[in-house]
Amino acid sequence: MKTTLPCPCGQVIRGEDEDDLVEKAFEHLREKHPAMAEDYEREHILFMAY
Ligand SMILES: [Zn+2]
Repeated sequence: MKTTLPCPCGQVIRGEDEDDLVEKAFEHLREKHPAMAEDYEREHILFMAY
């Protein structure tokens, strides 16, 4: 299960499970990278996560 997402900005986002990770990743994107948040979908987040 993937629980870690290294954002290109340098911040590492961690979740308890994939759902939690995706949720936290979108929170981060909306806050820090609003333009990216519109383009990204769950599968993109999980593709970059490990
Ligand atoms: Zn970021």
